[in-house]
Amino acid sequence: MSSYILSIDQGTTSSRAIIFDDQLKIVAISQQQIDNFFPKPGWVEMDANDIYNSVLYVVRDVLAKAKIMPVEIKAIGITNQRETTIVWDRKTGLPVYNALVWQSRQSNDLCEKVIRSGYEQYIKQKTGLTVDPYFSASKIRWILDHIDDGQVRANNGELMFGTVDSWLVYKLSNQRTHITDVSNASRTMLMDIDNLCWDKKLLSIWNIPECMLPEIKASSEIYDYTDALGVEIPIASVIGDQQSALFGQMCFEPGQCKNTYGTGCFLLFNTGEKRVNSQNGLVTTIGWKIKDKVCYALEGSIFVAGAAIQWLRDGLKLIETAAESEDMALKVPDSGGVYVVPAFTGLGAPYWDQDARGAIFGLTRGTTRAHLIRATLESLAYQTFDVLEALENDTGLMIRGLQVDGGACRNNYLMQFQADVLHTEIIRPVNFETTALGACMLAGLACGAFESMDELKKMYNVDRRFEPMISILHQSRLIQGWKKAVKATMEF
Ligand code: ADP
Repeated sequence: MSSYILSIDQGTTSSRAIIFDDQLKIVAISQQQIDNFFPKPGWVEMDANDIYNSVLYVVRDVLAKAKIMPVEIKAIGITNQRETTIVWDRKTGLPVYNALVWQSRQSNDLCEKVIRSGYEQYIKQKTGLTVDPYFSASKIRWILDHIDDGQVRANNGELMFGTVDSWLVYKLSNQRTHITDVSNASRTMLMDIDNLCWDKKLLSIWNIPECMLPEIKASSEIYDYTDALGVEIPIASVIGDQQSALFGQMCFEPGQCKNTYGTGCFLLFNTGEKRVNSQNGLVTTIGWKIKDKVCYALEGSIFVAGAAIQWLRDGLKLIETAAESEDMALKVPDSGGVYVVPAFTGLGAPYWDQDARGAIFGLTRGTTRAHLIRATLESLAYQTFDVLEALENDTGLMIRGLQVDGGACRNNYLMQFQADVLHTEIIRPVNFETTALGACMLAGLACGAFESMDELKKMYNVDRRFEPMISILHQSRLIQGWKKAVKATMEF
């Protein structure tokens, strides 16, 4: 009988389940879209029961597609959208409010109040994070403030909090187990990332009772079993999606980094057992914990990346499919001096300018549709340059090689341009489902399907390497133009 691992990738717009074989090859995939609700401008919510039901659906569907028996699944791994906050009733197991999604800004005032009270420095030092509604703490506070007797019920131990991973483990284990892993806990803004425990002072700043929080565990261990497929299967890994992609890219050594080109871009850099604090707008986070070994990471997020290509398609109607952007970009020899700064929702790392809005520079009578498309693609590469530059300043290291994944890394023109502006090799793996892969590998390590990380490394297959093809002088001219464009955007 063969053995397989089932990986659950629970995201903001869909839930996916992927079955991998013991050579890390994909056997079957199932995906289901989930609704997001936008009750007010800037608010994003989901129904936590929808999240669980969609996971159940894809888990059962993928098994049918793979044509294997449940007993052949050796373990289940979970990777999830991070920070999204769910509070539920301990007795009934029912959510007391919609899930507040990571993008949601409804707890902004609560964050500002905490900043005004002078806690920003303490929070940064304990959690590695910038005070922002993005992270879970203010979202829990917001829910307790907006349900009947929220604080009293929380203090009495009647309520439980979890990020999506905790919620799924709780439901899949028939409400027996309330845990999270270090990578997800590091995004709550309640964890002391040096000692890997909930921090009493942070809990008191946000007035959140510890009894509602999950137990913090490693990212690779058997937490409990689920009978969702009719037989008992161990749940053997839990890890946040971006950290999972870092692991799935086999960036196990300090100095290795990956960039995921999805709707936004997330660049994570392995700093090993050492926590590195950023002076340049990046956040410090936990990558994973395996047995007693913790791996830290620096993270830079870019809000608009693939979303800019969607804008070309749906907003400007310049292309019909995202893939067409590549052919169009290659119709012209260069961007003709055009720069697009896609700051549609402000600028993320390393600028953190909430108020900035998008801009286009360098237009002439000769500017064509192809130039605009090419310049928009290039903006993904320039934004990545900015984050890597911040990383190099923080760590004093020169980055040698960037591993890429996510939908937009299919675009060969973009990847070549990325190699050119970074003057660094770009490495694209055959399997760029790295998010699901990371959770699969961690579950496999916990249940003995894989013996070691060295064994896993041998299974990394490169699809293509992109080498820089322009001179340093040419590169620095391109970057100079981009920096001018960003500066003008922020000053506008
Ligand atoms: P997410 O997980 O954030 O939903 P994906 O990793 O599925 O994102 O990637 C989808 C994004 O990648 C979309 O924003 C899309 O516009 C972009 N994209 C997909 N294919 C290409 C392509 N060939 N060239 C450029 N962008 C692309």
